[in-house]
Amino acid sequence: MELENAKNTIKKAAEKLNLSKETLDIILNTEREVKVNFPVQMDDGTQKIFTGYRIQHNSLLGPYKGGIRYHPEVNLNEVSALSIWMTIKTATLNLPLGGGKGGVICNPKELSEQEIENLTRGFIKKIAPVIGPHKDIPAPDVYTNSKIMDIIVDEYSKTEGIPIEKAKAVVTGKSIENGGSLGRDTATARGGQFVLKQAIEQTKIIPTLENATIAIQGIGNAGGNFAKLISKDNAKIIAISDSKGAIHNPKGLNINKVLEHKKQTGSVMNTPDTICMTNEQLLELDCDVLVPAALANQITEKNADKIKAKIILELANGPTTPEADKILEEKNKLILPDILTNAGGVTVSYYEWFQNINQEKWTAEKVDEKLKEKMQNATKEILDKKEKYQTTTRIAAYVNAIERLSRKLEN
Ligand code: NAD
Repeated sequence: MELENAKNTIKKAAEKLNLSKETLDIILNTEREVKVNFPVQMDDGTQKIFTGYRIQHNSLLGPYKGGIRYHPEVNLNEVSALSIWMTIKTATLNLPLGGGKGGVICNPKELSEQEIENLTRGFIKKIAPVIGPHKDIPAPDVYTNSKIMDIIVDEYSKTEGIPIEKAKAVVTGKSIENGGSLGRDTATARGGQFVLKQAIEQTKIIPTLENATIAIQGIGNAGGNFAKLISKDNAKIIAISDSKGAIHNPKGLNINKVLEHKKQTGSVMNTPDTICMTNEQLLELDCDVLVPAALANQITEKNADKIKAKIILELANGPTTPEADKILEEKNKLILPDILTNAGGVTVSYYEWFQNINQEKWTAEKVDEKLKEKMQNATKEILDKKEKYQTTTRIAAYVNAIERLSRKLEN
């Protein structure tokens, strides 16, 4: 995620709204940037200094919210861009939350479990004064998980001297035993499914999800769960892929058999009754809905005019480049943008925080029902704004979010 890309999209949306320079400046700038250096005890008995960031972009709508990543390439520019993106995302979903993001420069693949725990505790000790259940609520991101979130609760409780029960709402994405929410693991896919159904109903670009032909790039948490969910809606998944390549069957794949084959062989490739192809060929298949659910920058100016799908459902972050966006819009394709489509995760994170604060435990059905309503409303608002401002769905999503932020500034 490029900082300039994020800012440019905000500027385009601001033009549509005739936003004042003062309001735009507030939205473009981060409120607080924290950089910390801290010592970590290593397994070989030495001590090493690590560097981490917590960027708090905007709190107009509520406490900052956003993940913490552990990666060698973590840097201020990227974390800032991702924090802006979180502000827009929470506003898109009308959640009472702001945007933040954090990270530690490290290679988790080279660290033992104990070293990762020590690193997490060292980082949290340093950022404890600026996070908290009503200040800033981190979550998992690249190479961080529920186990690390549970350690954060423990360390925050010790550092701040508050009981564990009260400390739980400082992060989301915890294990279920430690205050995590049911439905969080499938929330991103579920959210995408609700967005797609609402968009089909509202635009009538295709008649129904039932029998619609779908190609999915990626079969991980997002793509795999999405495939399972839409199979139950009787959609016809004609292709799916992983990093080794794609498989295709124009009559439809049996997703359970594909997942079983991947479990046994490590890849979807060569699943019986399928044709193998490349990930690039999958993107260009003749289908109703294309679902990029793996990596960024997959649909570019090189392949955008070969995309035949009528709807592009962006479950991955940033799968379409700005140049490709233009080409697809000219071809009248409906892009359901990442900022909306994959926001099911942050929405259920908000429900986790709400349950922790109010000492409640919701059933999976209740989480699902609430998620459905949120995702449907956000999709409807954005498609309405697309019409009103005669713009792309992506800009319409930003317009919707920025309107919410600027209203708060004016009141
Ligand atoms: P994951 O690691 O579970 O799965 C990634 C999938 O991508 C795997 O199937 C992998 O085989 C496939 N892949 C890797 N390299 C590929 C390549 N070169 N070509 C095709 N496929 C390739 O990750 P995930 O959690 O499913 O995330 C996927 C995307 O969705 C990312 O962009 C992520 O940022 C986004 N996303 C995920 C969540 C979530 O809650 N999981 C939330 C928001 C956004």
